[in-house]
Amino acid sequence: MPPSRFRPGLGRPSAPAPGIAWFAFRGDELLVRAPPDGGDRFDVPVAADLADLGVVAVRDQPLGELDGRPCRSAELAQGAPAPEGHAYVSLRRLHGRIDPELFDVAGTAYQVQHWDRAHQYCAACGAELEAGQDERVKRCVRCASNYFPRITPATIVLVEDGPRVLMTRQARFPAGMYGLVAGFVEPGETLEACVAREVHEETGVDVADIAYFGSQPWPFPHQIMVGFTARYAGGELRVDTRELEDARWFHRDALPLLPPPLSIARKLVDAWLARAAR
Ligand SMILES: [Zn+2]
Repeated sequence: MPPSRFRPGLGRPSAPAPGIAWFAFRGDELLVRAPPDGGDRFDVPVAADLADLGVVAVRDQPLGELDGRPCRSAELAQGAPAPEGHAYVSLRRLHGRIDPELFDVAGTAYQVQHWDRAHQYCAACGAELEAGQDERVKRCVRCASNYFPRITPATIVLVEDGPRVLMTRQARFPAGMYGLVAGFVEPGETLEACVAREVHEETGVDVADIAYFGSQPWPFPHQIMVGFTARYAGGELRVDTRELEDARWFHRDALPLLPPPLSIARKLVDAWLARAAR
């Protein structure tokens, strides 16, 4: 994997920059520069101040630097107009239609502005919160309660049985697409226990050899997906129809429509296929 071009940080820019890359949200939609050729690749606006573009930020936060350029997240008012040559596009729709590194920063920005908006006052005593100087935290000016950004862990697992892989389908998926078993971690649970529980609950299957694969922030709205592989160890396939529309074993030579590239589900499947091909 190439090194990330993004360096997170809360400080001032390390060098004078011609402008700031703005990751400005109106609700769930990011302000983007429309492609000049009418194509499908979006970019984010660069300006010293958002006001230069004719939009007003309700509040904004530092994110760090991308390719040496400072980046900030911003929250815009509902109903804010799109400047000439710009548009508002939901983060989900931008997946695969913007530089992946920009998408990752946009995901970070979305979570930061969401947290910033939701943490203006202390939940314990109602006093105002102020932003920490050296770390991403809001601190109560009266009772010193801390509010860190909320990050919700979920596991996702590729279960293999020789040449077969266990795949699941939710009703909201595009027609014909299958993904992998996934679910949220419960209080007191290890990630491995979460994997075993989710697979059993959703499909009735037992697994062994649970191994870490990699992880991916998933800003809808604040998950981190932790990917695992596991081996089939018994149990009869039965679908939990409260959560799933379908679950099946697929042979590697007859796979269904897969999740989109860049998703960790797809990376898990691609890595499994690459291992099988060796
Ligand atoms: Zn307080």
